[in-house]
Amino acid sequence: MSDANGSGGIDVARARAETPACAHVKHFNNCGAALMPQAVIEAVKRHIDREALMGGYEAADAAAGEIQSVYASLARLIGCRTEEIALVENATVAWNMAFVSLRFRPGDRILTAMAEYASNYLNFLHVARRHGVSIEPVPNDESGQLDTRALAERLDARVKLIAVTHVPTNGGLVNPAAAIGRIAREAGVPFLLDACQSAGQMPLDVEAMGCDLLSATGRKFLRGPRGTGFLYVRQGFLEQLEPPWLDLRAAEWTGPESYEMRPDARRFENWEFNVAGLLGLGVAVNYALAWGLEAIERRARGLAERLRTGLREIPGARVHDLGREPCAIVSFTLSAGEPADITARLKQEGFNLSVSGAPSTLLDMRARGIAHLVRAAPHYYNTEDEVDALLAALRRLA
Ligand SMILES: *Cc1c(COP(=O)(O)O)cnc(C)c1O
Repeated sequence: MSDANGSGGIDVARARAETPACAHVKHFNNCGAALMPQAVIEAVKRHIDREALMGGYEAADAAAGEIQSVYASLARLIGCRTEEIALVENATVAWNMAFVSLRFRPGDRILTAMAEYASNYLNFLHVARRHGVSIEPVPNDESGQLDTRALAERLDARVKLIAVTHVPTNGGLVNPAAAIGRIAREAGVPFLLDACQSAGQMPLDVEAMGCDLLSATGRKFLRGPRGTGFLYVRQGFLEQLEPPWLDLRAAEWTGPESYEMRPDARRFENWEFNVAGLLGLGVAVNYALAWGLEAIERRARGLAERLRTGLREIPGARVHDLGREPCAIVSFTLSAGEPADITARLKQEGFNLSVSGAPSTLLDMRARGIAHLVRAAPHYYNTEDEVDALLAALRRLA
């Protein structure tokens, strides 16, 4: 299977041999949590063992060099500098540290996208209620992605932020991050990109995408441990943010009435964190970089396309993915059953899929009249045979 045609340049047999769970499940829930490779599992366990034998602080000291290198790995992943990365416990914390630091005032406008993630939108609503800010979802174009012309038309001096989800949680849509970034830069408006589903699935370059802030999680397509995430803050943008709180890692208490914040993105971190998870994240990032994000994207998308093509032939099946070039999250419904029943039945046959409900991306789901849909998200370690087996199982259910 280590061929050049079909596998997108990925040695699938090796990827599977290095992923213990591939022997047990047909995993299509990579948009929920992807399978960790052996190297990540070992890095986490190794540090737990160190803590068990040495003590937690002492183990962290012993791993100081490895901890530092996690910043460098993430900087390579998204094309930034190590000082522009903050390591936090998940994408929600990362996104909120950036968002809440923006100091909203009455009359400010936030421009966002139709398929924005619930936790982001809840905080839009929260600041709208507290500070009299208005939230304006920019309509989609005819392909279903954010309409950049409509975005440009809405800009004025009151727009305080453009906040967009790159790849929404409920399907294959990829919003045009670079085009949005260009518009944001020209207008001098901050751009916050939620890259939770795109990190690890496709190449990301914060310069090319023109974003000032980017948040992502470790456990999804990056294949890292749960409870890990990171925030990118462009160095030139740092001083425009006011962190909602500080701790003794984010700042130094320099006198009875003075303190100094760290000069870099780590002012958004907490002192206490899960070191084992963090080290696992660093290994996951290096592992993804070693395969190459272009190759990963090509293969995962190829498998997703195979799945979509097969789904279109199944009576009563409907693919719901939007956008010009859908990515590796395949969203669909079957007229023969509710999404939760379908995923439960498939679970018994060894397939891991997941359901996305309207409250996760409310505006988009309501606009399309969808209450729930099934998500099947292949990764590069999945096989054509697994996709075909999933299609066969779905055909039986239909
Ligand atoms: C999963 C997800 C999040 C939240 O990530 P956590 O790590 O669970 O905080 C944010 N945005 C999108 C688009 C997601 O899919």
